[in-house]
Amino acid sequence: MSTPVQNALRDAIAARRDDLVKLTQDLIRIPSLNPPGEKYLDVCEYLAARMEPKGFKVELIRARGEAADSDKYPRWNFIARHEGTRPGECVHFNSHHDVVEVGHGWTTDPFGGEVKDGRIYGRGSCDMKGGLATSIIAAEAFVDTFPDYAGAVEVSSVADEESGGHAGAAFLANKGYFNPDRVQHVIIPEPLNKDRICLGHRGVWWAEIETKGRIAHGSMPFLGDCAVRHMGAVLDEMEATLFPLLASKRTEMPVVPEGARQSTLNINSMHSGEPAVDPDHHGLPTPLVPDRCKITIDRRFLIEEDLAEVKREVTAMLDSVAARRPGFDYEIRDLFQVIPTMTERNAPVVRTVASAIEEVLQTQPQYVVSPGTYDHKHVTQIGGLDNCIAYGPGILDLAHQPDEWIGIDDMMDSAEVMALTLAKLLPQPN
Ligand SMILES: [Zn+2]
Repeated sequence: MSTPVQNALRDAIAARRDDLVKLTQDLIRIPSLNPPGEKYLDVCEYLAARMEPKGFKVELIRARGEAADSDKYPRWNFIARHEGTRPGECVHFNSHHDVVEVGHGWTTDPFGGEVKDGRIYGRGSCDMKGGLATSIIAAEAFVDTFPDYAGAVEVSSVADEESGGHAGAAFLANKGYFNPDRVQHVIIPEPLNKDRICLGHRGVWWAEIETKGRIAHGSMPFLGDCAVRHMGAVLDEMEATLFPLLASKRTEMPVVPEGARQSTLNINSMHSGEPAVDPDHHGLPTPLVPDRCKITIDRRFLIEEDLAEVKREVTAMLDSVAARRPGFDYEIRDLFQVIPTMTERNAPVVRTVASAIEEVLQTQPQYVVSPGTYDHKHVTQIGGLDNCIAYGPGILDLAHQPDEWIGIDDMMDSAEVMALTLAKLLPQPN
């Protein structure tokens, strides 16, 4: 049974279907690739030109002083705010406009925004220009349908989510844009599926481990000490003790896919010996005993785990190799870390989006947690706002793939859920 409010919003969104498609295509056609982080200003100016005439106050904010910002590749962020007629809470939709490299295997133009069989194709269609467009349509439909609402609606599009978000969501958070005095509900329209609410993400710790040896002529390895063999001992120890330990650590977090519902570790890279030979170089490598071998580990941890303990497990493993292997010496360096985050299921934004999903889609929402991180951490850990979720159209598995696409019907359904969420959180007079 739909309510009059829901019916009014459904009609307002149905009337904007072509607009939603065109908006998504236009955004895809701006190749805002990261790296290097180009065309960010083009996206922000496009959004400003669209939203300012519709009554939104727009701001373009450059992340000056951030390491990634330069005159060649300035890190621009966009934020639009629409004020209701009376004071109330603010609901903020936070998207990112950077897209990852195209890669191989496309059968459509990655920046063409081609529409085929109800889908819009292109790099960033799913992650996450489709979600950004959906939130804009939802916000515009809501403020047009119920101009006399209490509170405020914000839409942002930020830089560099794909590379950590320091010049994007983190920068805005540091400037107070996610301060709970200013914003009370944040929805991040990442492609998690239109009936799923993403409560947060696992933690991350990246570190570099280096084993040390001694250089010598490859014909007389006994005069040196091979760092690759030492690393081999580390990898053996990992297989024997660390991987089984991680597999035994299960979480209460509803992480999808299911395989990520435990601690995991990946070895992202391994380097030793001479640098890899250039394909145009046809000579042979030289014979040397490598004196250094490095791996980068990517450890994803759970809300039940403590980062200090996560690090101790790895150093304990290295120390146990050192205790029984003559000449073994290592160094370990931290590269990056993110604490896990998970919003409570009874937080206001979670309950409201859940009831909007039930009413619009006639189904119970699924609650999930992401295996990897996204900008949620900056909203909660810098901004200090716990009332944050990811909710948006699109199939996460398509993100970063060739022939990435987003379904138009899914965007329409999600726009309705988002608009109804606004209506529930920002009261209108009867
Ligand atoms: Zn994304």
